Amino acid sequence: MVNQDPTNPSHALFDQFVQTQTCKEVQRTFSELCHHLELDPRDYQSFYTKLKERLNYWKAKALWIKLDKRAQHQDYQQGKVCAKTKCLVLGAGPCGLRTAIELALLGAQVVVLEKRDSFSRNNVLHLWPYTICDLRGLAAKKFYGKFCTGALDHISIRQLQLILLKVSLLLGVEVNTGVEFKGWMAKLFPDDHPAGKFQFDVFISAGGGRFVPDGFRWKELRGKLAIGITCNFINHHSAAEAQVAEISGVARIYNQKFFQDLLTEEGIDLENIVYYKDATHYFVMTAKKKSLLKMGVIKQDFSDANQLLGQANVDQDALLRYAHGAAHFSTDHRLPNMQFALNHAGQPDVAMFDFTCMHRAENASLVRERKGKKLLIGLVGDCLVEPFWPLGTGIARGFLAAFDTAWMVRSWGKGKPHLEVVAERESIYQLLSQTTPENISKNYSAFSIDPATRYQHVNLNSIKANQVRNTQILLSIT
Ligand code: FAD
Repeated sequence: MVNQDPTNPSHALFDQFVQTQTCKEVQRTFSELCHHLELDPRDYQSFYTKLKERLNYWKAKALWIKLDKRAQHQDYQQGKVCAKTKCLVLGAGPCGLRTAIELALLGAQVVVLEKRDSFSRNNVLHLWPYTICDLRGLAAKKFYGKFCTGALDHISIRQLQLILLKVSLLLGVEVNTGVEFKGWMAKLFPDDHPAGKFQFDVFISAGGGRFVPDGFRWKELRGKLAIGITCNFINHHSAAEAQVAEISGVARIYNQKFFQDLLTEEGIDLENIVYYKDATHYFVMTAKKKSLLKMGVIKQDFSDANQLLGQANVDQDALLRYAHGAAHFSTDHRLPNMQFALNHAGQPDVAMFDFTCMHRAENASLVRERKGKKLLIGLVGDCLVEPFWPLGTGIARGFLAAFDTAWMVRSWGKGKPHLEVVAERESIYQLLSQTTPENISKNYSAFSIDPATRYQHVNLNSIKANQVRNTQILLSIT
């Protein structure tokens, strides 16, 4: 008879692992759980199976049911299809971790490198319906009970990372935090980190905006000057706060009176504003330069956006007042006791950023050859296509690219000729920037890494192998 005693130490450790709320604690409780169950997390091929065998606990079983359902999908061929593939993933943001999970399900050895040692981003992301369905399938609710309850369709970046980190670890992904990738030939910081010895044949960059490895080129889409402000206030979880309605997006063209009143009463001139209630009260808005200058937030006008929004040209106290005023007004002055939440540096969590230019990588993949060996390189997330925050495209397109990348690695693992692997990846990439919640397939529960399950019209051969031969097959790694 198996011990189902709630005081069983491994059950208690599992509960802690599931509930814990910081990156460090997740890693600590996971390592203790492995130690207690005498499991080696580096034994990536059989780790998950052994964990299930040794942790005979009803709460864990409810989780295994979810993960097994995903893992049993035919695309993964029972984790055998990439059994010999070794993948290095740069970045433990949402898209890097989501990719790592898919690669692990394919049976690959997956090592993730993350330069930060904590998950501290309070900002809240709006999710497209398919991503909510996807995350539910990964048991998000077991790790975060409040996940998209009722009509809620958003989650903080840190909470999303925590969920994906936990799933990654359970599936045998090695996640190294506090390790910075500095370049090819395993240049890491700290330079003696054991991950530096990892030999890989697939490299996935998920390093966020503009972190693109050598060999990739950018396209720039430049619009009119657009200045964003994000701010987070402490959520005291009081009854009064609970009653304040969220603003899922109000834009100037749809509610001119609201913006006119805001300008008249507060001197604040906005294009749009969003308010989500999560662990914090999160606001994001687009502000007009003229009002930022008038309110003393921006000290001097410059045509160059970097100079305009550079630290030296921003009065931080005025920025806090501006953000506070906009948040207070837009919630009808009903949010009591508005104190700024703190960011990773212990400062009020308010940021101003420029999103005038959107970048997009010209290609999603490359193959580098060195001494007869081939390295497949792929981009996912913001470093592939920079998102446009008012449309909430970041996670949705980021996850689509994660699945497309896993499909590419699957073909690689199956031994498909490398030119064909890259040509197919580029054919699929052509569709990414056009995706909207309306034009992707609606059968979300059938979504898999197979592009045909997600895109309505996909031609895997729209780009031919001979078209990528000269641009995406590079010799030698520098
Ligand atoms: P990131 O989250 O940036 O993660 C990259 C990771 O790589 C980081 O953890 C970083 O530390 C690590 N890293 C970088 N370089 C190295 C290195 N050399 N070595 C090791 N590690 C490294 N998206 C939505 O879907 N919905 C929204 O509503 C939404 N709103 C937004 C509002 C604003 C104001 C902004 C700015 C963005 C918004 N986004 C939204 C976009 C969303 O935040 C991003 O798309 C998402 O966080 C990208 O995830 P990622 O994994 O690609 O990159």
